[in-house]
Amino acid sequence: MSLDAQWAVAWTRAAAAAVAEHRAELVELDRQIGDGDHGENLHRGFTAVVQRLDALPEAPAQVGEVLKLVATTLMSTVGGAAGPLYGTAYLRAAKVTAAEVLDSAGVVALLEAALEGIVVRGKAGVGEKTMVDAWTPAVEAAVTAADAGAEPAAVLRAAADAAEEGARSTIPLVATKGRASYLGERSAGHLDPGSASTALILRAAAGAAS
Ligand code: ADP
Ligand code: MG
Ligand code: MG
Repeated sequence: MSLDAQWAVAWTRAAAAAVAEHRAELVELDRQIGDGDHGENLHRGFTAVVQRLDALPEAPAQVGEVLKLVATTLMSTVGGAAGPLYGTAYLRAAKVTAAEVLDSAGVVALLEAALEGIVVRGKAGVGEKTMVDAWTPAVEAAVTAADAGAEPAAVLRAAADAAEEGARSTIPLVATKGRASYLGERSAGHLDPGSASTALILRAAAGAAS
């Protein structure tokens, strides 16, 4: 599938389905080092996103339109840390996707903008046990794949693979940002929920492209 507005809609629906499927798992991860609401927060948000997509009078024409709808909906329905973080990520990504069909460089630009939004908003760096630990290797892998001439779908697969690995890499880390940081050393030994949801969302992007 070419990475057009239809792909963006398919990605969004697949992300919503993945969040619904893994809702309990995300809740359990967040129960271990947070307040146990990450799965519910995201599920509420993506359910609202799908409702708004279903209510559109006509199919969106641009990727950016879809990403903007996701951004504004997540910002107004998710709350907590993840709402504004994902909201800003999607909003920034929406702004750099003016083309009707994304090529590999366009995919890289989308992912870079999303990460930039998360960092601007949350001020976390790599190694602080947040979603940044999934997004950063995802962007790096996307850049490497695109530079090697990979097709857009393969760039997304590389990003999703790296995000999953990045999420696993958070297990031994001590959290220094977000709610998990209140636990200090006791946050080690658990996977960060936001990095887990990041991996789900990026896997959905890759799945929708193939
Ligand atoms: P809350 O912690 O407010 O209950 P959620 O449970 O929905 O919000 O989201 C928690 C996730 O948000 C964490 O697992 C982490 O990945 C991410 N997060 C928290 N603070 C930051 C931050 N400053 N920068 C990046 N990500 C963060
Ligand atoms: Mg929480
Ligand atoms: Mg909360």
